[in-house]
Amino acid sequence: MAKSSILGYPRIGKHRELKRAVESYWAGKIDEAALQQAGREVRQAAWAAQQAAGIDLIPCNDFSFYDQVLDAICLVGLIPPRFGPPGPAVSLSTYFAMARGAPGVPALELTKWFDTNYHYLVPEFDAPVAGIASSKPFDEFAEATAQLGRPAKPVLLGPVSLLLLGKRHTKPLAEHLQELLPVYAEVLGHLGRDGAEWVQIDEPVLVQDRTEEELDLLSAAYRELARVDGRPRIMLQTYFGSLDELSWQRVMALPIEGIGLDFVRTPANRELLNRHGFPENKVLGAGAVNGRNVWRTNLVEGLELLEEIAEHVEVDRIWVQPSCSLLHLPHDVRLETQLPPEVTALLAFAEQRLEEVVTLTRGLNEGRSAIIDELEENAEIFRVALDSTRFHHRPTQERLAALTEDDFQRASPYEVRASLQQQRFKLPLFPTTTIGSFPQTPEVRSARARWRAGKLSDEEYWSFIREQIAALIRRQEEIGLDVLVHGEFERSDMVEYFAEQLQGFVITEHGWVQSYGSRAARPPIIFGDVYRPKPMTVEVSRYAQSLTARPVKGMLTGPVTMLNWSFVREDLSRREVAYQIALALRDEVRDLEAAGIAMIQIDEPALREGLPLRRQEWDEYLDWAVKAFRLASSGVADETQIHSHMCYSEFNDIIEAIDALDADVISIENSRSQGELLRAFLDHRYPRQIGPGVYDVHSARVPSVEEIESLLLKAVEILSPEQLWVNPDCGLKTRRPEEAWPSLENMVEAARRMRERYLARVT
Ligand code: GLN
Ligand code: ZN
Repeated sequence: MAKSSILGYPRIGKHRELKRAVESYWAGKIDEAALQQAGREVRQAAWAAQQAAGIDLIPCNDFSFYDQVLDAICLVGLIPPRFGPPGPAVSLSTYFAMARGAPGVPALELTKWFDTNYHYLVPEFDAPVAGIASSKPFDEFAEATAQLGRPAKPVLLGPVSLLLLGKRHTKPLAEHLQELLPVYAEVLGHLGRDGAEWVQIDEPVLVQDRTEEELDLLSAAYRELARVDGRPRIMLQTYFGSLDELSWQRVMALPIEGIGLDFVRTPANRELLNRHGFPENKVLGAGAVNGRNVWRTNLVEGLELLEEIAEHVEVDRIWVQPSCSLLHLPHDVRLETQLPPEVTALLAFAEQRLEEVVTLTRGLNEGRSAIIDELEENAEIFRVALDSTRFHHRPTQERLAALTEDDFQRASPYEVRASLQQQRFKLPLFPTTTIGSFPQTPEVRSARARWRAGKLSDEEYWSFIREQIAALIRRQEEIGLDVLVHGEFERSDMVEYFAEQLQGFVITEHGWVQSYGSRAARPPIIFGDVYRPKPMTVEVSRYAQSLTARPVKGMLTGPVTMLNWSFVREDLSRREVAYQIALALRDEVRDLEAAGIAMIQIDEPALREGLPLRRQEWDEYLDWAVKAFRLASSGVADETQIHSHMCYSEFNDIIEAIDALDADVISIENSRSQGELLRAFLDHRYPRQIGPGVYDVHSARVPSVEEIESLLLKAVEILSPEQLWVNPDCGLKTRRPEEAWPSLENMVEAARRMRERYLARVT
């Protein structure tokens, strides 16, 4: 018989209980015992839900107080010396210090987990491997097994992934690996003695491009772990994509008992299986329902996939499972009471995935007739969706079909636009501006909360917002900024603000997904054709511009970022969805222009993070991502200046795409890389204007005039003064006013000094 299996479960709690507990603990409001209790309750609820659904292989050690990579770091005792010696076990305070830093001790670096919006803490391999320094997997195994009345399946991050996801390697990777393996061996022995039958070892790095040498590391690692006496059987789990020819051969040859594959994300694993078959002595973990997206599984298609797999592997050796951990899904659709019913019917969050896995397992074991009711109900949901008018918007589809090359082009080349724009704006050298948002003070947040709760009328709320804008415009003029912004006080989140106003999007009430540590986001869901029923930002921008003679930038979130930070429908390509959003924004851009807004910034902070995990897919992504931006931005007159903003500093490998955006001005993050990143722009002879950030908005520190000036001096070594703008790294939303304003004053002064130098030189 096939078994049902789960790779990991959401761990923030159905009502974000863990977030509250962890933050209360940090604030000193609850003690460690209370935090541990809250953790236990979250784990127990997860196990109970899986057991009630009838899942055979229930994971443990998938819980975390902060991050599973940090847990793995603690397990092997890879503790950077700045946090003190680990001792026999890493204490909770050291654990959180590694995650969040402590006075004078910087935290581990936080970075994106593959192509998800989850972030993990980066292992630092210049630290010694001290050996097991956490009993978490053993404790949680005992706890789960006691609750379930049978052995749970411990989940570990594999040694090869731990190694390759880390940084600051000080010797050949093989030597680092040799230090990790004895610790992993000891962990496996321990779990075996405790009664674990299977262990799931995650090696997600295998779905990225890997060299022969890296695959040698994999073979060496599992050869050695396979030899451990009394160990549990090993399910080597991959996810977020497929293996390739090379890695398939190497993975299949490993001396282990199971291999978990994602059959949802890309078709390649299915093709590889059909081409090569599957080893006779191994279990296949068949990722057959989507662990990354919120749409209900088409059960007939799921069953067809499993039946095809069963042509290569006897049913007894199949585990039916999601494509990855359910960590990346919200908890439970049943909490959503405000969504249109046709949309709700199509959704499956983590709890609903459990049912799907169990149903498909039953269908595979007992035949279609055993799940005929479920299949019919499922087919009906898709039939209704197909007919519903809610999902389809004919005019949008027609507009998309009628696009021509011209829709992606500005009227004139950059040089022509630039001189017209300079005649219009007459900006000085080194013009100063900001990225858009200003501090969202408690006052602003409370006004929005009261308005949402119906305690402030629309009129009261918007007059409050107008007062904020007016005060901000005055203050920006006072300190001498050249190009102003309205401050984004009306936006709680740059994607949600637009998602709320566009058709085709819904916002959930409880659809929280962990983004890192105690932070969770509620990604909007794109369920249908996207269009704009009415202008979204024109009123605030027009009002802000009416208060000043200086240009005020219109401020929009770009199509690629809207897409990458949402759950996206799958019946249309991502390209087409991006173009639909772009068309809606194109209308907004034109309306802003018509309202007298002469500079419009379209932010694309998520452009880079949408890059596919495999290099060979980059070009296709970048091609449509760039075109989506151009579609949104190119419908304006030459005299209208298009800005964009990107929050990162690695441009070397995407510089051509950045160039192809054809934005008149871009602003980027730069202050921490000390000008290094600008090399890419030099090497590429980037022709347009650029504002490399000179103020690190992630820090509470106020940079001095001299510091900012020295960053600008570095920038003029690389780019011409005519190209340069002066701005912070990113929006100022999370800064406090008393940090932001002195920093901006110093920035304006630094720009003034730069101008003096250059004017002196010219005359
Ligand atoms: N305009 C946005 C802001 O200033 C940009 C934020 C971002 O890039 N993440 O807040
Ligand atoms: Zn940014």
